[in-house]
Amino acid sequence: MSEPALQAVNLTRAYGAVRAVDGVSFALARGGSLGIVGESGSGKTTTARIVVGLEQADSGEVVVDGRRRPTAVRGRAGRLARAREVQMAFQDPYLSLDPRTSVESVLRLHFPDRNPAPRVRELLGHVGLPARAADARPGQLSGGQRQRVAIARALAVEPAVLVLDEAVAALDVSVQAQILNLLADIREQTRVSYLFITHDLGVVRCVTDDVIVMRHGRVIEAGATADVLTAPQRPYTRLLLDSVPHPGWDPEQIAAARRAL
Ligand code: ADP
Ligand code: MG
Repeated sequence: MSEPALQAVNLTRAYGAVRAVDGVSFALARGGSLGIVGESGSGKTTTARIVVGLEQADSGEVVVDGRRRPTAVRGRAGRLARAREVQMAFQDPYLSLDPRTSVESVLRLHFPDRNPAPRVRELLGHVGLPARAADARPGQLSGGQRQRVAIARALAVEPAVLVLDEAVAALDVSVQAQILNLLADIREQTRVSYLFITHDLGVVRCVTDDVIVMRHGRVIEAGATADVLTAPQRPYTRLLLDSVPHPGWDPEQIAAARRAL
């Protein structure tokens, strides 16, 4: 097998007494898609922020394409190299898009000379937006369109890894499906790798090859997504699956099982 695009090695991060991330390791294959699932507070976002570099780990390391990810870089070339390792798309692009800045400016912002007008059109096409979207302000776009812009922005530097933290959680189901299809197409075309963080097991089933299950900052189960979702080995994973509303669903029973775990 070729070198993984991304490896997390024994990451830890504590906030006071809370061990938000407690010895997390995983590998993401080049062109692959790895899901991180777990309840709210299990350490998913902290793990993502460490991978992206928005948060420092107390210990452990992040390795991209076989190289340890530097914590700080100097100069434009260094910043671009670092940006090309990992990019991130958040749950609510509204918060990360400046309302006064046009889509074109957003796409050109980080590395202007790499994103001339034809490249902006190409990026928009990539995420299924028409060329005229370049002139729009975020407030003129729908939630789904804004998430497409956020994805285009993340892809602008052609990163090896795209981290998506609850990136479709705020969207209507039909729009969610469109974005998930788009992400699948982009992965096929570009060989970008996804680290896909979600509390939604249906989303994981749809867009990941492998999955890790986190609880209290630890990885408690890992494997091929199809295996983990059809034959979970750990009671906690079973409970997560049972917690998804379905016919014959009994929330009381699930709450009791959760207390017993
Ligand atoms: P998830 O994304 O799975 O919901 P998080 O990584 O956001 O989990 O949080 C994991 C734990 O770390 C939670 O108990 C949360 O309250 C705590 N935590 C996360 N970020 C901070 C912070 N900046 N300061 C203090 N505690 C934090
Ligand atoms: Mg989170």
